Formats: sequence, structure tokens, C-alpha cells
Amino acid sequence: MRSFLERPPLAQKSKVAIARGESYGEAERAVRRAVELLGGIGKICKRGDKVMIKPNMIYASKPEDAETTHPAVVKAVVKLCREAGASSVKLGEQTGWHCDPELSFTVTGLKEAALAAGADEVVNWDNDEYVTVDVPNPRSFARVMLPKSLMDADVIIHLPKMKTNAVQVATLGIKGWIGALHNRMRTFIHKNALDNGFSTTDVVKALGSKLKLTLIDGIEGMEGSGPHAGLVCHPKVIIASQDVVACNAVTCKVMGFHPLEIPATQVAMKDGVGTADLDEIEVLGERIEDVIYPFKRAVNQYVSRYPNVREFVGGACQGCFWTFPSLPPHVDPQKKYALVAGARALIGDDLGSYDEVHLIGICACAPSHQLPGFKERVGRAKRIVTHPYCPGYNTAVHHHEKAEAKGDVFEVPDLLLGDMCALWAVPDVTNQDKMDAALSRKENRQSLEDVRHAAEQYYGPELLASSRPALWPMTPLKEMAKWQDAVEGPEPAPTKITFVENSDGAGLRTATRALNGRAPSPGETAD
Ligand code: SF4
Repeated sequence: MRSFLERPPLAQKSKVAIARGESYGEAERAVRRAVELLGGIGKICKRGDKVMIKPNMIYASKPEDAETTHPAVVKAVVKLCREAGASSVKLGEQTGWHCDPELSFTVTGLKEAALAAGADEVVNWDNDEYVTVDVPNPRSFARVMLPKSLMDADVIIHLPKMKTNAVQVATLGIKGWIGALHNRMRTFIHKNALDNGFSTTDVVKALGSKLKLTLIDGIEGMEGSGPHAGLVCHPKVIIASQDVVACNAVTCKVMGFHPLEIPATQVAMKDGVGTADLDEIEVLGERIEDVIYPFKRAVNQYVSRYPNVREFVGGACQGCFWTFPSLPPHVDPQKKYALVAGARALIGDDLGSYDEVHLIGICACAPSHQLPGFKERVGRAKRIVTHPYCPGYNTAVHHHEKAEAKGDVFEVPDLLLGDMCALWAVPDVTNQDKMDAALSRKENRQSLEDVRHAAEQYYGPELLASSRPALWPMTPLKEMAKWQDAVEGPEPAPTKITFVENSDGAGLRTATRALNGRAPSPGETAD
């Protein structure tokens, strides 16, 4: 079949190994088989090498949630590296925003498994020193900020989980590297799948030839609303390759997707990282057609579940419309709400009948980006709430920050990314427990005691007591700010609203609010 790229076929085929594993009791056998098919661990790790292994871990989820790489797989890979004579073997990862990495390493079982198998250290990348690494042939970033312990390694091994992703169809071998990127840079690449694909491919290019193996844990997987709130499924395979692009392509095929469906796979192939062309891939072990396991996809819910909350978009990225399920923070059934997102929001309704309009993202907050009449229409609403962040879902974090400071409507500190993952998908592809918990937090404004009780049920009182901040697996925002201050690199441009013309309606009200009640002067700016 003709390739999607106009280039001569590769001289040498990439190899991808597929091994079956019925359950995690067979994980070590399946991992060994996959690595043997690729030529053995000696091809990946030499005596004396320093090895860094990156699992897939975003929240403090238990292994049976199928959200993180299973500890049995990590154990098997650490053992193999030890047998190869590695001088040091470390496990490193950071979590999704606002999760406590230490608690996550414990609850997922990854720390215990790695150390039991002979790892020297488990490195919390949130606390690591970061180094700036040049990206060859860059797309989005000329340089990326990566953990020093990662870049000090001679051999890097990536162990993604086989799961769907609401941004990029599936996470797998390239998107997963977002986990190594410094928090400051991660913000910029959550607008949509394409931004994400270009940027994470840059991370893989920065790792270069150190990235020796991608081995995907598909003994159990997550389908539907991945990466956090999906359903457990049982593909029963380990898929491995030294070519991360080929590994993605074959795994996508096994999951019932097109091999090129993940944007990052296309970008990485075009940039010469590897091949996703099945004609250029030699599949070893099991045949693809014998292990195909069609995954339910992540299906975004584009409209609020509440009849009195209506959406208006135009030119909005995913990063803004993901916020829809989280806003307004509390829904009063007696009121009428509008959510507005995008750089060219199309508003056909008369917003004069709405009690509250939420302008989501810096695009919606800047009348100068909008079509004529925007300001007047929005200005007729009884109340306007601005969320001037990009991407717009950072607004949830912002609300949380305010809640920390003065006990605002987000008494519950967990209506954040985890809840958004559960709420931005249609119910039949979402883990109902996670969706119910997220809705309960949103609708009932649980007390801190309720949250503590729920957390104790999940983690147990002892583990909870030993965690930081001892209530929920989150890193306080103030601490995040400290990391950001500590890292060298270009400052992100501050978000500003510029007050143009004048005037009446939305512009004036937005400006006045941003200035704490004082009317703005023409041309004045504020954060
Ligand atoms: S603020 Fe604008 S550019 Fe940023 S994510 Fe939203 S729509 Fe996209």
C-alpha cells in the first residue's frame, strides 16, 4: 500500500514483538518473551549502563484500576536490566497536575515493585533538578526541560499502559513522554491533539538514541474515557519495540484503531523518529490479527448535562471545551447559564435572559478576538465571569487556588483534572464510580469531612495519614509555583486583558471586576 509520506521505503524494517499474557501472574514470562523476540536484553542494556525506567502514572490509582503500568511489568523489566549487568536501575515519573507523586508511587504499587526487584531508587521527578535539552529538528520547542536523572541515564525504557486518551485517541509511546516535561511547559501543549502531538514528539527527539525500548503493558488496559476515568479491559498482550513509532502503530492496530490515528505518530514518522507503515514493520511473536482487541473510544461530551447550562463556541480548542463539565462550579437549577469559548464565538441566542455567562479561555475573554456584536450580546447578561487562561481548563485550577485561599465554592479540592476526565466523556464509556464521585463533589459541595471519609475508604487511614497533604493526592498550588520559580528557562508570557475602547457592557464590567471594582482607563492592562 502507498505510504502517507512521499519518501522511499526504509532499507530495514522495524521490529515489533507481541507476546501474550493471560494475567499479571504471567507478566514476567510475557515481558521476557517480548524482549527475547527483539534480540534479548543485551541489545537494549549493556553491563555498566545506567538505566532509567519510566512507567505510566498520573494519579494515585490502584493497579486494578488499569490506569497505571502494572507493578508486575515494572518488576519484570527491572529484573531484566539487573540480569544484564546495569550499574544502576531507577524508576522515574511525575504525576498529573495536582497529584501527590509520593502517594501515587505507593498506591500504584510501583515503588514497592521496583525496589523489590532490585531498583536502586524511585525518583519523584517533581522534586528532580531539570536540565534544558536541545531538540534536534524541532517543531514546537527548540529546547525542552527534562529531569536530570532521566538525561543522566545511558538507557531509557518506557513502559506505557495500553489505554485510550481523550486528547490523542491513545496515549502509548509518544504522548506518554509528556510526563517527563517540566510542569511549566506542559501547560502549553494541552490545547488539542495536534499541539500535543508536535510537542511530545519533540520530547522523544530530545531523548534521542537513549530511548532504547518501549514496552506497552496491555495485559489489562483502559478503554473508553482514558486516561483516568475509563473502563478496565483485557487485551492480554505485551507489545514492545525499539522503534517507538512502530510500537504505537502496531498497538493502535491491535486496539482496533488506524495505525496513523494518533497525531504524534504521524509527526514522529515524518520527522524520521521511526515508521508507522505496517509494510515497513516486521511483527514478531503473535500475529496482529490473532490479538486484535477493539477498544471503546474516549467520546467527549460536548454539552453540559444540565438543561439550564447552554454552550456557545466558535474557534475553540479542546482545552477550552473540556472545561464545560466543570462550569459553573455549582449549578443552581433556578438559574440560566451560558458557557462561551473560542476566538470567534458564535452566539445566536440573546444572552440578556441569562443569569450568568462564563467566558472560558483568553480568547473568549478578549472582545478584540471576537466577531462584531460579541461585546454587546455578552454584556446583556446579568453577570459575567471570566476565566482568562489558555487553555481554558486551567480555570479549574484557578478556582482551586482561590478555594485554598478563602474557602470559595470549591471546598472540595478534587474537582480538578481527575473529575474533568470523568465528566467530559459520555457516561457509557466512563467508569461509573469515578463519574458518580465527581458529580457528587460538584453538586453536593461535599464537606472536607466527607472528602476525608471517601479518601480513607480508598487509601486506608494509615496511608492517608502518611501522605502529603494528608487529605487527597494533590500537590498544593503554592508548592507548584515554587518549582516553577526554581527552574531556569523562559518565563511564559503573563496573561493580560487589555481594555479597549471603553465602554459599556461586557468590556467595562470585565475590566471593573479585574481591577477589583475600579473602572479602567482606556488602554490599561491587568492580569
Ligand atoms: S484560550 Fe483560545 S487558544 Fe487557548 S485553548 Fe482556549 S480557544 Fe484555544
